[in-house]
Amino acid sequence: MEIASPPSSSNEVPRRMKLLILGGTSEAVQLGRALADDPRFAAMVSLAGRTRNPAPQPLPCRIGGFGGAEGLARHLAAERVDALIDATHPFAAQISRHAELASNSSGVPLLSLQRPEWQPATGDHWIPVADMSEAAKALGKTPRRVLLTIGQKDLFPFAAAPWHRYVIRSVDPPPPERVPPNAEIITARGPFREEDERRLLAEREIEILVAKNSGGSATVAKLHAARVLRVPVVMVARPPAITGDRVANVEEVLTWLALRHEALSRRGV
Ligand code: NAP
Repeated sequence: MEIASPPSSSNEVPRRMKLLILGGTSEAVQLGRALADDPRFAAMVSLAGRTRNPAPQPLPCRIGGFGGAEGLARHLAAERVDALIDATHPFAAQISRHAELASNSSGVPLLSLQRPEWQPATGDHWIPVADMSEAAKALGKTPRRVLLTIGQKDLFPFAAAPWHRYVIRSVDPPPPERVPPNAEIITARGPFREEDERRLLAEREIEILVAKNSGGSATVAKLHAARVLRVPVVMVARPPAITGDRVANVEEVLTWLALRHEALSRRGV
């Protein structure tokens, strides 16, 4: 895919376009790297502040919520942001909805970067479910050894199925009140390798895996390991995406931005 060039007029100083990137994903970091030295853009990343040691960011970073959609709209106006990029995780539905509302009310254009969903392949045994409550029910009545790779936010429904033994893997340990009984906690941050995932499934004698359909390469190895070891996967569907401009990778974000920057510079705004 070709990326449009900035305006070439020699005496014209192209305007720097101010960007706010809602982050918390590897794609946001990748985008940050691509924009860090680009003189056309002045970009800032926003993180929720959920993880204790967030991944290093190549761009200036702010941390913490905005105070709802209205707070985000106020922030966009106060910082004179020209474009908002939602590069949050596909399951971070609330901030994405707030981004949509804030973009509508402020007129600041919004682009959503959504990595493609994983698709089942030959040899996979996926049990598709709509949400985490359905995932807990899909584990059934017979006690099983379950690996939960769903982060720490959505553990609550599994407390209703206390007859299973759980291995919970998350970046930071979940708060004790969210942890179901009979649970072992493993803290780890991706990317994960298939051989390590196979070892984890085998050593813990995992009989079923619960995963969100996050997509991307960093955490896909568990699905390959489950396929090889014939471990079924309860796959939780994504929440509905927001409406509006959407792309699937960082290169397409850069194309969108280059065109916007060119249009702004031509208008001399
Ligand atoms: P969420 O449920 O969609 O959002 C809850 C609230 O957290 C939002 O209303 C907002 O607070 C604040 N928030 C979320 N993302 C933010 C950001 N990038 N910058 C500033 N404030 C943010 O979010 P979540 O699912 O807890 O995810 C939080 C962060 O973790 C996101 O950056 C996401 O990309 C990352 N993450 C999430 C998952 C997941 O599975 N959910 C997985 C990996 C990474 P206010 O209303 O006060 O503005």
